[in-house]
Amino acid sequence: MEDETLLMLPGPVPLPERVRFAMARQAINHRGAEFGGAYSNIVRVLKTCFGTNNDLMVISGSGTAGMEAAVSNFGKGRKMAHLINGKFGERLWKIGERYGEAVPIESEWGTPLNLEALKEALENGCEVVTMVHNETSAGILNPGAEVGKICRKHDALFIMDGVTSIGGDNVKADDWGVDVAIVGSQKCLAAPAGLAAVSVSSRAWEKAVKNPPYYFDLPAYRKNAAKSPMETPYTPAVPIFFALREACLLIEEEGIEKRVARHHRMAKAVRAAVAAWGVEMFPKTDAIHQYSNTVTAARIPKGSNDKDFRGHVKKFGIQIAGGQDHLKDVIFRIGHMGCVSAPELLATLAATEYAIQKSGHKVTSSGVMAAAEVLG
Ligand SMILES: *Cc1c(COP(=O)(O)O)cnc(C)c1O
Repeated sequence: MEDETLLMLPGPVPLPERVRFAMARQAINHRGAEFGGAYSNIVRVLKTCFGTNNDLMVISGSGTAGMEAAVSNFGKGRKMAHLINGKFGERLWKIGERYGEAVPIESEWGTPLNLEALKEALENGCEVVTMVHNETSAGILNPGAEVGKICRKHDALFIMDGVTSIGGDNVKADDWGVDVAIVGSQKCLAAPAGLAAVSVSSRAWEKAVKNPPYYFDLPAYRKNAAKSPMETPYTPAVPIFFALREACLLIEEEGIEKRVARHHRMAKAVRAAVAAWGVEMFPKTDAIHQYSNTVTAARIPKGSNDKDFRGHVKKFGIQIAGGQDHLKDVIFRIGHMGCVSAPELLATLAATEYAIQKSGHKVTSSGVMAAAEVLG
C-alpha cells in the first residue's frame, strides 16, 4: 500500500502511472526532434478535445498563464465584457483590469450568466468577451454555444476558459465560435500541473494586439510551433511536456467521446448520491445541463463547517474540496475529472456519506447505493 491521499479535487487530479513514469527521464535539448515529436502529439490530441482546427500552442505555466496570455494578446487596450458567476470568471475580469477597460457582468456565484446584460455591453462597445465554460468554484456549466452566437452577432472576440471542461466534457470550440480557448494540464487531462494550452482562431490572429507581454507573446509561440520540429520560444517545462504527451495518448486510446461519456456517468452518480442524502446542490438551477459534469458542488449540512466536514472525509485518506472565498463553510466540492475510476468514486461517496451523518444530517437514503445503481 502506498501512503498517498486520493485527490478527489477539481484539480490537481491523480496521475496515471504511465503519466508519472513519463517524467522520470534524462534531460534533453528542447530544440530537436524528440521534443518536437512530443509537442506535436499533444497538439494533435488536444485539438480533438477542444473541438478545433485552429492553431494550438502550449505555454509553460498553470491555467492562469493561459488566461493571461489570452486576455493580454487580444484584449490589451480594449473594452472587454467579463461574464462572472464564480471565482474564475472573476479572475478573468481581474486580469482584464490589468490590460484594458474591463466591464464585469456579474451574477451571483452558482446562478446562470446574465446574457441580456452581455448583449447590452456589446451594444455599448465591448469588443472582447470572456466566459468560464465550467465554473469550477460553483459547479455550474455555462452555455458556450449560446455566448458564441451572441459574440458572432456583434463581431466580438470570444475568449473561453475551458480549464475544467476540455478533455472531460463536450467542447466544440469551432462550432461554437470560440476564438480563444484555454485548458490547464492538471484538470480533466490528468497530467501534472504546470502547462496551459491555448487555441487561437484566424479571426483572433487578425485582431492580435501589438506588443503583448514578452513571455506571453502568442505570435512568437505560433511562429515556433510552425517550425519542424515544433518548438516553443523559450525553454519549456520539458518533463511536464512528456507527462502531458503521455496523458494525451491515454485520452486518444480511450477516445474523447468515451471519455466525455465516462465523465457524464460519474457526474450522474454523484448527483444521485446528493439527492439520496437529501443534501442541496449548490448551483441555483434545476436544469440538468447547467450542472457541471466534472465537479459537483453541494451544501455542507447546517451546523457543520468546512474543517470538520472535510476532516471526516480525510480520515479515510480522501481529499475533497471546500468552497472558495465566501463559499468556505458553505459548500463542498467533489472533483470527478481526469482518470477517476468507479471504485475511487464509490469510496469518496462512502466517506462523504459518513461526513454528512457525522455532521448531524440524517440522510434520506444511501447515496452510495444510489451512485452504485448509476455506475453498475
Ligand atoms: C483551475 C482553474 C483555472 C486555472 O488555475 P491554475 O491554478 O492557474 O491552474 C482556471 N479556470 C478554471 C475554471 C479552473 O478550474
